[in-house]
Amino acid sequence: MRVEAGEGMKTAGEVWLVGAGPGDPGLLTMRGKDVLERADVVVHDRLANPALLRLAPRARFIDVGKSPDGQGYRQEEINRILIDLAREGNMVVRLKGGDPFIFGRGGEEALALVAAGIRFGVVPGVTAASGCAAWAGVPLTHRGLASSLALVTGHEDPGKVPQVEWRRLAAAADTLVVYMGVGRLELIVTELLAGGRPADEPVLLVQEGTRATQKVVSSRLEELPARAREGGIEPPALLVVGKVAALRRSLAWYENLPLSGCRIALTRPLVMFGEDARPVGHAGHPFAGWDLADWQIAGAEVDVYHLLRLEMPADPGPLRQAARQAGCFRWILFTSAAGVEAFFHALAEEGADARALAGCRVGVVGPGTAAALRRHGIRPDLVPRPYTVDALVAEVGRRLAPGDRVLLPRSDLAASQAEPLLRAGAEEVREVTAYHTAADREEAARLARDVVAGGVDVLVLTSASTARMAAQEVLAGWAGGVPGGVEPPLAGMESSLAAGAGLPLVVAIGPVTARACREAGWPVAAVAPTHDREGLLRAVVDLWQGRRVPRRPGVT
Ligand code: SAH
Repeated sequence: MRVEAGEGMKTAGEVWLVGAGPGDPGLLTMRGKDVLERADVVVHDRLANPALLRLAPRARFIDVGKSPDGQGYRQEEINRILIDLAREGNMVVRLKGGDPFIFGRGGEEALALVAAGIRFGVVPGVTAASGCAAWAGVPLTHRGLASSLALVTGHEDPGKVPQVEWRRLAAAADTLVVYMGVGRLELIVTELLAGGRPADEPVLLVQEGTRATQKVVSSRLEELPARAREGGIEPPALLVVGKVAALRRSLAWYENLPLSGCRIALTRPLVMFGEDARPVGHAGHPFAGWDLADWQIAGAEVDVYHLLRLEMPADPGPLRQAARQAGCFRWILFTSAAGVEAFFHALAEEGADARALAGCRVGVVGPGTAAALRRHGIRPDLVPRPYTVDALVAEVGRRLAPGDRVLLPRSDLAASQAEPLLRAGAEEVREVTAYHTAADREEAARLARDVVAGGVDVLVLTSASTARMAAQEVLAGWAGGVPGGVEPPLAGMESSLAAGAGLPLVVAIGPVTARACREAGWPVAAVAPTHDREGLLRAVVDLWQGRRVPRRPGVT
């Protein structure tokens, strides 16, 4: 909602020119994240990582990415859009790849904003030169090897008199970094040689630097065009010329990370209720234990797909009544973090708080659910081993005393657990729908698209319902020929089958999820040894390290 000032006059908007970094979303600055979170509109281009757009939960998005064929928006049109949006009173983020003031035309946009009298700010970004050099293991300056550095564009307006004086430049700086030069490598090399650079000088081309798809080609200067062709290098790629390029042989580090090159699709539900209803991966989300940093620091590129949306039940009456009567239950069992959130949400709506559970024992299915409970000030009395609902119910069954009542707030899709508890002597087992699980078709379609485009190496599934949905949606659009419902006999075969077909390897959080996935026709490559986040991470690392998946080519 916009604040109105005076008589219907909107407060002046502002524009932030924000550097998105070269690709890895973790390279956004903290200020960049802060302004994205507050944005009404995000105007972005092609190079900005789409994962960053999810940091702007309330923004609408305008893609002004210029396509290579020159279609798309002209610079004047982009300037106009920024000015108009700001005049409408919006907080506008202009998200640009790398740094906005390095070959990003950020200066032109800033001048247009000044001319229009619009307040603006600039958030620098990690420019491709430093991002790609870092990921390739190449210090751009190095004592004894390079004490000067030039950033150069290899692409200039066609028809314009060339401004880059390659021969003078060849003599002027020790390290040369060329942006947008892939299309003109022959010319650049010829000119640099003519300018006196040695034919055997080490050079490096980095394509899609800092992404899981990063490709690096090392070469000698004179052989560069041929090597680039062999390596199939395409834009966006960055050229580094200079003695420092040879340091990659000793300093390459990214390729040694346990999950380097691995693109992971993580499926987590979107929680629509409670104060903290925000997408997973978002700072301060109630499922913060699921933030993506552990995966990313291990080298993976992770995207979260919210295949399910968890909503308050259409009739919240039974849940609220159960919350009101919480004190009557000897045991309250939570089988998901969302169940915890929904229950405490209902409790709050009843004007009560955690004290209502003073006389209850509380059991949770695993560490994620335990963490959610602790955030509401309650320590679980029981976390079963293994972390499964069956184990939880069996354990509680052993501890029941005559007359004990059990409350199970759970998903509307969950299977009933009443029978084993009643058999164990429970006086009453009340299973109430704590939340409604709705499929998000758009997210499922996005996952299917990304899988079919070959953009996912590992699919991490954390519940039976997401497993069924992922399998349904993705396999429907899959022509690779996966044997429906047939479970291959050997784990090794399963993964090579999936890898051969180009279908992502599935890692399931536990046996129930794995079974649902197999039954839906998608082979499972691994099941987490412990049914929690750490277990999943370990399973994915083992799988990836085991090289059952052919490593992406291109590391030289
Ligand atoms: N403002 C951006 C540069 C935009 S010009 C910055 O500061 O990085 C676009 C060029 O940047 C591309 O043609 C390519 O040469 C380089 N570039 C941007 N991201 C890159 C990446 N991830 N890997 C390799 N080169 C990249």
